[in-house]
Amino acid sequence: MWEKGWRQSIWNELGQEWDIIVIGGGITGAGVLRRAAAEGLKTLLVEASDFSFGTSSRSSKLVHGGIRYLRNKQFDVTRESVHEREWMLREARNLVTPLGCLMPYYQDRKIREEFALGVVLYDLMAPKWKHARYSRQRLVRECPLLESPELGGGFLYYDAQMDDSRLVLTLIREAVRAGGIAINYAKVESLLRDSTGRVCGIGLADNAGGMPAQEIKAKVVINATGPWSDDLRSQVGAPARLRRLRGSHLIFPRDRIPLPYDVSLLHPKDDRAMFAIPWEGTTLIGTTDLDHKFDLDAGEPFATREEIDYILEAANSSFPAVHLGEEDIISSFAGLRPVINTGKADPSKESRAHVVWEEDGLITVTGGKLTTFRIMAEQALQKAAPMLRGRFDFSQRKRYFDPLPPPLSDFMLDAEEKAYLLGRYGIEASELLSSAREGENQPIKSLRNLWSELRYNARCGGVVHLDDLLLRRVRLGLLLPEGGIAEMPRIRQIVQGELGWDDRTWWDELERYRKIYRASYAPIPGGIPPALTGDFTWPQNVNAPHPGTKDERQKEPTVLYSNGAIRR
Ligand code: FAD
Repeated sequence: MWEKGWRQSIWNELGQEWDIIVIGGGITGAGVLRRAAAEGLKTLLVEASDFSFGTSSRSSKLVHGGIRYLRNKQFDVTRESVHEREWMLREARNLVTPLGCLMPYYQDRKIREEFALGVVLYDLMAPKWKHARYSRQRLVRECPLLESPELGGGFLYYDAQMDDSRLVLTLIREAVRAGGIAINYAKVESLLRDSTGRVCGIGLADNAGGMPAQEIKAKVVINATGPWSDDLRSQVGAPARLRRLRGSHLIFPRDRIPLPYDVSLLHPKDDRAMFAIPWEGTTLIGTTDLDHKFDLDAGEPFATREEIDYILEAANSSFPAVHLGEEDIISSFAGLRPVINTGKADPSKESRAHVVWEEDGLITVTGGKLTTFRIMAEQALQKAAPMLRGRFDFSQRKRYFDPLPPPLSDFMLDAEEKAYLLGRYGIEASELLSSAREGENQPIKSLRNLWSELRYNARCGGVVHLDDLLLRRVRLGLLLPEGGIAEMPRIRQIVQGELGWDDRTWWDELERYRKIYRASYAPIPGGIPPALTGDFTWPQNVNAPHPGTKDERQKEPTVLYSNGAIRR
């Protein structure tokens, strides 16, 4: 699948009439494509950037009911999500894995009783009975970093976690195997209307360049563009309904903040719930929840200076002995949550429920969570059913994730590594390992990922740009210091040929990656360093402080991206 030249072949075949066109290659669009393909519907998914480029690669990586939503009395959202979590743990084995979560409480009786009720309700919704109450001593034994004079005790409960980008890619690739078609870097510029004014297709541009724009007809067009949903809705005259809330995370080395479990934090200033999560050999801490005032076309969102300080403050308050500082951050990232705007003063109080709207034939499905993608997909398709010829019942349960293939007995890897690869690559895992050159079935530095994953993804993983490979297919740009720049010679040696790039293209791609990394994923993002001159070393340590003032760095990103005014 997706071998050299794949985008061009697909592009040349788009001019037929489709049953369904899905716009947006995040988790919502991927879920719709997967379910529609399982039904045998002729379905096309188009993504303006890379698959999972939007919010779906920038989440907290939890498959969860959202125990904190119980505090806001969002019982239906929580119950629905807990059911979906249990389903994914069964069906997406090794890709979605169980995660123990600790919820400490301090010398505050009210919160303790609130938490006690929360974990019981949470388990009853699953239904299961796995939570436990920990004394202060037991909690400190489980997680010594929580030690503080005010600590009262805590609770243990269970959720689940995943790699969000891989989850999206798995769904899309399984949909393609089931007969669906997906293409990235294909942007919907306009919606086509029939003589009655109803939406009947799309005007599509090639965002990777080189192929002519085209108009494509479909019986149903589904808008699954997450935070961009209002943009397409405005083309049918629908009023804006979304509030874009930015959430940022910081990633720290595991040895700096070793956590055996996910730990809930309450921010000392405003009591907002946050998480410190063991993820892929690192510790992920977030999230913030703020109105995103920047233009979506201005560039990828990034964690602002204030958000970084806010996250550090929460971490240092809950783990007083650790003294985390900016210099400890490996990387950062920010995503935009599309929520329905009800004008609540506190963004965290806005409901995380999803919606499905039909406006002049355009079906929009948005809001919700990664965890509830299946429900969202089925409801969107249910809404589309009357426009499709034939009888469909999308509420009927179907598999979204293919069963795991047999263990990889031909390869010398430990059982944990095999499980990891099978979860991520399913039936492709064995081909991935077989395609490795000597020494490539070895971990990349301290990561779980193997070098051979880079080769395989470059060969047939739908990679168009270097950032697709290093930020989403394999997350080494987030997990290694300085975006993995020290590994670039070996990365180049493995992937340049597979991607068919000449030297000039390689350098252009590296420059593009470097800019994206510095603007949106560096420990203190927002700076663009001087251009590369031919060696592999980025000129400055990414942890070095910016020369610009704090205020200068946080100006509207339009300034940052349009004239590069903020430079190191
Ligand atoms: P997106 O992932 O944003 O996808 C939309 C896609 O549409 C984008 O890739 C974009 O490029 C594309 N697009 C836009 N315009 C066009 C166009 N004109 N043509 C073609 N394509 C277009 N949920 C959980 O369950 N667990 C969590 O732990 C969790 N943590 C979160 C943490 C944060 C900080 C945030 C912000 C959200 C979190 N969520 C979580 C929520 C979850 O991540 C989102 O609900 C989900 O990812 C939204 O997916 P989506 O597919 O609707 O949108």
